[in-house]
Amino acid sequence: MNSVDEEFISQCLRKYYYEYFGIIDIPSKLNRHEFGYQKPNSPMIRHIQLQDAAELRSTLMQELPLDVFLSSARYLFPSLPMAEKEWQDADLIFDIDAKDLNLECRPSHTVQICATCGKVNNKGCACDSPQIKDVSVTCDRCINASKKEVKKLLDILYDDIGIKESQTEVYFSGNDGFHIHVHDLKFLNLNSLERSELVDYVMCNGILPERLGMKREGATSLPQQTDAGWPGRFARHMFGSKTARPKEIKKITADGYARFTDTLKRLSHTLGACIDSGVTTDVHRIFRMPGTINGKSGMTKMACPDIAKFNP
Ligand SMILES: [Zn+2]
Ligand SMILES: [Zn+2]
Repeated sequence: MNSVDEEFISQCLRKYYYEYFGIIDIPSKLNRHEFGYQKPNSPMIRHIQLQDAAELRSTLMQELPLDVFLSSARYLFPSLPMAEKEWQDADLIFDIDAKDLNLECRPSHTVQICATCGKVNNKGCACDSPQIKDVSVTCDRCINASKKEVKKLLDILYDDIGIKESQTEVYFSGNDGFHIHVHDLKFLNLNSLERSELVDYVMCNGILPERLGMKREGATSLPQQTDAGWPGRFARHMFGSKTARPKEIKKITADGYARFTDTLKRLSHTLGACIDSGVTTDVHRIFRMPGTINGKSGMTKMACPDIAKFNP
């Protein structure tokens, strides 16, 4: 980036933080969170404690960061090294990213950039050990596929886990996907292991045929369409209408336990929500602050109250 570009970006950021500071979501206990930011072509700066909105505003205006982050966790001492911060609790966050969905469109809008010299797709890069990173700008197919995963996830959270819609906030990440934040007090204290059990549940990882009434000796009672949780969800998907049920059950159980297990595995993939498990289980992570710019795309991370109608 040359100095003219740098000056232009600084001007845009100054204008943004000055005019749009009001759209940044500031949590009630801002001073308990770890704050971090990154300026263009600079390393990340984190482990910062801000006292209030005024200090956030002055930091943004002074530093003009391209990317702004805040921990999902609250700490007693946010500015100390991780081991000494004294973790208190953390919002439960799910990340859905188009890059994890194996979409055919991805290569057509992804380029490789050398992090050292900024050259694209290896053209003219003479760096010793270039650090190549994939940079992608999103497309309609990516957004629509991600929205489908959000819908799946929300259905599971509301219907199976009992999380209330009013305790949930869906944010467009500003580039390739969505963050789903759960503020329900019941979940804030969960540790990493407990969060990973929740991840397995919403992704439908490792569901056993026995859970659906299929044993090695043969099928016993398969779930009804009206059953709660995964059994009901499978039944609705596999058996369709009530009249089709007997025929479909015969078909799906005819080839025995092993084939049923294979079908179940395949279906778990289709029916489970495709989330980035590492994001949910990491209780020390910092996330882009809602209402700030995503430096990769220039778009804002913003709340989407109506995900079906959302179009960035
Ligand atoms: Zn290079
Ligand atoms: Zn795409």
